Amino acid sequence: MALFDNFSLIGLKKGGFLMDEERIVNPQIEDQVEEKLENSLRPRTLDEYIGQEKVKENMKIYIESAKKRGEPLDHVLLYGPPGLGKTTLSNIIANEMDSNIKITSGPAIEKPGDLASILTNLSEFDILFIDEIHRLSKSVEEILYPALEDYSLDIVIGKGPTAKSIRLDLPKFTLVGATTRAGALTTPLRDRFGIIHRLELYNTEELTTIIRRSSQILNVSIEEEAAREIARRSRGTPRIANRLLKRVRDYATVLGDGDITLKLAKHALNQLEIDELGLDEIDRKLLDTMIVQYGGRAVGIETLAVSVGEEIDTIEDVYEPYLIQIGFIARTLRGRKALPAAYRHLGYEIPEEIES
Ligand code: ADP
Repeated sequence: MALFDNFSLIGLKKGGFLMDEERIVNPQIEDQVEEKLENSLRPRTLDEYIGQEKVKENMKIYIESAKKRGEPLDHVLLYGPPGLGKTTLSNIIANEMDSNIKITSGPAIEKPGDLASILTNLSEFDILFIDEIHRLSKSVEEILYPALEDYSLDIVIGKGPTAKSIRLDLPKFTLVGATTRAGALTTPLRDRFGIIHRLELYNTEELTTIIRRSSQILNVSIEEEAAREIARRSRGTPRIANRLLKRVRDYATVLGDGDITLKLAKHALNQLEIDELGLDEIDRKLLDTMIVQYGGRAVGIETLAVSVGEEIDTIEDVYEPYLIQIGFIARTLRGRKALPAAYRHLGYEIPEEIES
């Protein structure tokens, strides 16, 4: 059964997620089965959405107020690292507003005409979700300004001196934009969002609740301590928590009777080479580069990207936020630096100049 009956996709080309062990953190190729499973785990209402209390509290008020006034919700910008629930929250907004949602992404809208056609096909009160909105091209973005400001679309007919510009009225809709990097948005675009929320990494308690909820949906029994163990290793990210849960379930199915015990969870997570803090091979390589290769000096992001064989954006969006959050690295003017906690965790001696 489709979770979101009022849901449609417009030319969505997603980055995707590969479901082999090494790519738990930064999955690259989306597997259709896994995507379906991910959809089945998405909460449908604000009350089911765990954590992000401030965002929820505010969104409840804005949604109720818009409904009372009989107006569309103001445009919403959600930002934060991948897997924190931006897409989920957009679907919930549509659900709570009793509206339809149309989903697309920045890179999928190649030409101004693509966006014009999406906009003219919207209905009154529709939610238009644009993922990776920072990747819209300048010419596409310009079409968006009048659409957001006064629900109108300027189109130019003809060429040269005879060209004429006409203005079309659009239905009143709500844009929900999602991005991993709010800083990459142009000021005029950012200014057109009335509601801007940053999603934060989740704490262990919240992730444990998410894992318990997902286990129920997946119909697997899990020990409380096992849920907590998976939560601790999920880098504050629900998508990773759900993914680890599924991988651990595989081990429980093959090595046990299907139930997830703490012992089994620990064994599976160690097999997946996810350490007690949720760090994987790439994190360790990043830290090793800073500590061993560069002897604790600040390292430029370009250098780090080359030494671990990842894109700069991936390091900045996926790896760095968690390493900063747990106090393992710091950003300095000259680059990234490993902090004492990282030395301790990896078992390196802390040089005097760093300890101070
Ligand atoms: P994003 O769009 O930020 O990359 P998603 O919305 O796709 O993240 O969320 C990834 C997965 O994490 C979803 O399958 C969803 O089930 C789960 N998830 C995200 N946020 C929450 C939450 N607050 N409560 C429960 N599950 C969540």
